[in-house]
Amino acid sequence: MKAKIFEDLIKEVHEKGICQECGGCVSFCSSAEYDIIGYKDPHTPPEYIHKDQCLKCGICYLICPQTHILDSELNKTYKFTDFNSMPIGNYDDIYSCQATDKEFLENGTDGGVVNSILNFMIEKKLIDGAIVSKTLAPFSREASFAKSKTDLLQSSGMKLDISSQLEEIQKFSTYTHSIPELNRYKFKKLAVIGTPCQFNTIRCMQDLGVTPSENMEICLGLFCYENFYFKKSQVEKFETDFNIKFSDIKKINIKEDVIFKLMDDGIGEKIIHIPFNHLKNYMRPACNACNDFSNIYADISFGGLGSSDKYTTVITRTEKGKNLFSQVLDAGIIKCADLDSSKKKTMIELISQFSQSKIKRKEEFMKNLE
Ligand SMILES: Cc1cc2nc3c(=O)[nH]c(=O)nc-3n(C[C@H](O)[C@H](O)[C@H](O)COP(=O)(O)OP(=O)(O)OC[C@H]3O[C@@H](n4cnc5c(N)ncnc54)[C@H](O)[C@@H]3O)c2cc1C
Ligand code: SF4
Ligand code: SF4
Ligand code: SF4
Repeated sequence: MKAKIFEDLIKEVHEKGICQECGGCVSFCSSAEYDIIGYKDPHTPPEYIHKDQCLKCGICYLICPQTHILDSELNKTYKFTDFNSMPIGNYDDIYSCQATDKEFLENGTDGGVVNSILNFMIEKKLIDGAIVSKTLAPFSREASFAKSKTDLLQSSGMKLDISSQLEEIQKFSTYTHSIPELNRYKFKKLAVIGTPCQFNTIRCMQDLGVTPSENMEICLGLFCYENFYFKKSQVEKFETDFNIKFSDIKKINIKEDVIFKLMDDGIGEKIIHIPFNHLKNYMRPACNACNDFSNIYADISFGGLGSSDKYTTVITRTEKGKNLFSQVLDAGIIKCADLDSSKKKTMIELISQFSQSKIKRKEEFMKNLE
């Protein structure tokens, strides 16, 4: 049977508007040092650069999170049956945690737990570093490599000295292109932090044993309901729609809705909650075609949903994730809120509810595409 190739991804994924821009296809293909496909713009799907050199190997098609070719293989490995019986995926346990280190807690997005774990792994030499994401401005991030506590703190939460960069940014996107960054560090032992679409691609790469997935020591997944994308020309509309000045945004958190913490104007800190459905005009269209909220293929998943302010919800999944988390707890670098079984059940139900809402959104979107 003829293997499906990048040409088929263009027809079946790009032309339908469902490319999640994970960069997996480009990373695999360019890691073999062929300049066959690439990005003309990082915020659009990749394109053929030298189509005549395509080896027709079909790997790009197999690893794309939108083709679902390897789903049954991944589901066997990660003991996942289906979203109906397991809306949040296969998991070991659920926690609500906080960093014990003041700097990670203060600078963290929620409880500063992800960065605390990364720092632990770096200090114990379990990894050489991590592919993380630096905030450049509200709704603008870029992938970076962290190999020390200082690097991690620089990639935590959101910095205050961002307004000077606002002028230079032409396109705003909360999505971080982490997978292409893996090629630059493929000889290092890495921790990768990413969204569900990115880990779907990475787990497909690992399943096939293709580069650059070989050195990923641990996959720390973030919950993700959707990501946002808009052009600079839409910033003014955003500011008017929500009565928020971009340069006043101090921090963004995502839980049941999107929470904007604004600079203290002398009267006190202002907090604005915006429901996801009010942000539809700014959502990346391909996120409509995604059904995984809680990052089912991660070793450990993290999110704000289900935990109170300054705490991170943690779901341990694989043996590797479970062992790492138990080492981290023993080392005392994070502490857990005291949750009885009924509190845990409530958290699971809330995450399941968001997972189901995402599954339904995808079903409706795909029906309209047919
Ligand atoms: C785009 C996006 C959407 C999210 N959507 C939801 C949601 O809908 N519901 C929900 O409950 N939680 C969501 N989360 C997760 C939540 O915002 C926190 O990231 C999570 O709770 C971990 O918090 P923490 O304080 O423990 O992490 P921290 O200790 O602050 O560490 C976070 C680390 O992750 C890195 N990082 C962040 N984003 C990326 C990325 N895309 N690629 C690589 N590294 C990254 C940072 O650089 C930092 O090193 C989302 C996160 C992101 C980035
Ligand atoms: S060489 Fe293989 S991975 Fe690269 S574009 Fe062609 S089919 Fe895809
Ligand atoms: S692998 Fe990722 S970037 Fe490539 S076509 Fe699929 S979704 Fe788009
Ligand atoms: S919703 Fe999140 S995981 Fe899904 S495609 Fe969008 S960014 Fe990726």
